[in-house]
Amino acid sequence: MDTLIPILVVIITILLMEMVAWSSHKYIMHGFGWAWHRDHHEPHDKRFEKNDLYGVVGAVMSISMFALGSPLVMGDAAWLPATWIGLGILGYGIIYTLIHDGLVHQRYFKWVPKKGYAKRLVQAHKLHHATIGKEGGVSFGFLFARDPARLKAELREQRQSGIAEIRESAGL
Ligand SMILES: [Zn+2]
Ligand SMILES: [Zn+2]
Repeated sequence: MDTLIPILVVIITILLMEMVAWSSHKYIMHGFGWAWHRDHHEPHDKRFEKNDLYGVVGAVMSISMFALGSPLVMGDAAWLPATWIGLGILGYGIIYTLIHDGLVHQRYFKWVPKKGYAKRLVQAHKLHHATIGKEGGVSFGFLFARDPARLKAELREQRQSGIAEIRESAGL
């Protein structure tokens, strides 16, 4: 019981972070936060992107939770469960960077999954990059992805209704 609850808090936090990431990607990064996200959607040969600042924001969230849970920082006001929440945010950050920066964008390793859910994740995020500019788009999450065929159909609908501009290279 002593370890079960912290483990549950970590897992639930990871799942909640996917919802936080999905909604902030859709409504903030593709909205008023586009200035930081834009270079992630445009070709370049730089090592870092302004978009990486969003990763720093995630790190600050995690570190803040660790601080809140720490008696060294907070004294008697320390709230222990914050440590497990901080660990969940950190866990999400690690999974996110492995899938997004590693698997999809090959920033630090190169492995192309040929089948299974890993392949679906790569396809879905590539389809996220099929649109030009911040309008429209599909697949704003990172851990879960819908059927790529369904996403492609949605992109075609967005193009037809003038919601989004689609790259030629997307082959839709
Ligand atoms: Zn995006
Ligand atoms: Zn991306």
